[in-house]
Amino acid sequence: MTAEENLNKLAREISICEHCALHETRKMSVPGDGPSNAEIMFIGEGPGFHENEQGHPFVGASGKFLDQLLAQAELTRAEVFICNVVKCRPPGNRDPLPDEIAACDAHLEAQIKIINPSIIVTLGRISMSKFIPDVKISAVHGQMKKIGDRYVIPMFHPAAALHQPQLKPSILGDFSNLPGQLNEAREALGRPVVTVKKKIQEVVSDKPKQLNLF
Ligand code: URA
Repeated sequence: MTAEENLNKLAREISICEHCALHETRKMSVPGDGPSNAEIMFIGEGPGFHENEQGHPFVGASGKFLDQLLAQAELTRAEVFICNVVKCRPPGNRDPLPDEIAACDAHLEAQIKIINPSIIVTLGRISMSKFIPDVKISAVHGQMKKIGDRYVIPMFHPAAALHQPQLKPSILGDFSNLPGQLNEAREALGRPVVTVKKKIQEVVSDKPKQLNLF
């Protein structure tokens, strides 16, 4: 099976997962979106109201802000993989509980193994602590750390920056450093540039041609 097929199979398993009590209250599970060869994987906390309704990550207010942050990093959703530590909505948007995070960890680990990203960007404290425990996000945000075969960069959660405007310059600054960090990571890991972006540009540049036919 190809990486894409493996990722799709995993998404089907996640959609019917009953490993923890969150499946009892979910409307839709949210496996994650993005290409199986993404160089960067963003990991948030857990689905909120809108994500639970639609089955896709970061589609509410913090998702709109994430789109702006991606633009700041010269990235689009089509070229990165976006998911969460837990794949089902914690009721009332509470923090996921340790046993829910543990129950969902095999799904996240399987996604990381298939995608094998050069960089994992953790969004928020809960996602950060899976990779870098016992540190304060305010002290380490934006700093790239080699963990195993890849780099991890902890960043503030977009929702935190929406609620605390004083965090906005930090998160914008961290995202604007991402292209340079990706080049550093590629070089250190001896990995080539992945051409997901090129394909999208081709699709987009086909559109005006089709419109001209009318
Ligand atoms: N917050 C998250 O952490 N993840 C989402 O998918 C949406 C909001």
